[in-house]
Amino acid sequence: MEEQIFECRQCGYCCQGETTVSLTGDDLPRMVHYLGMSEQEVREKYLRVTGNVIQMKIVDGHCIFYNQGCTVHPGKPWRCSQWPLHPSILQDAGNFQAISTSCPGIKATVGYEKFCEILSVLLQAKEGR
Ligand code: SF4
Ligand code: SF4
Repeated sequence: MEEQIFECRQCGYCCQGETTVSLTGDDLPRMVHYLGMSEQEVREKYLRVTGNVIQMKIVDGHCIFYNQGCTVHPGKPWRCSQWPLHPSILQDAGNFQAISTSCPGIKATVGYEKFCEILSVLLQAKEGR
């Protein structure tokens, strides 16, 4: 069903830029577990900590984990998992426009109403897991 509204083009745009998403409370232990390293090592090697905000380091203009795709996929931050089928799309057509402009995998030609219909079902199924 997801493929009706989104198919990742593996362009990597969402992993590029000068900052990354910030990690939530559960993200760090999941990432540490997936990488099989100590938290200290993960922090030093991969993370950028600014006060209370933990983000991933940027290397050559992209997230340190990006290498023709996400190399930490099962351990990636929750906010990365939400992208690009973000619930905010359901609240505002402007968010739909903004996200479809940033992500070429979004099938905007489906139209906003139909897109939201499918996205609602997908998000509900995710919540029920
Ligand atoms: S911007 Fe969209 S299409 Fe490109 S890699 Fe990210 S999710 Fe996939
Ligand atoms: S963790 Fe993976 S999905 Fe998230 S920004 Fe880095 S490379 Fe991209």
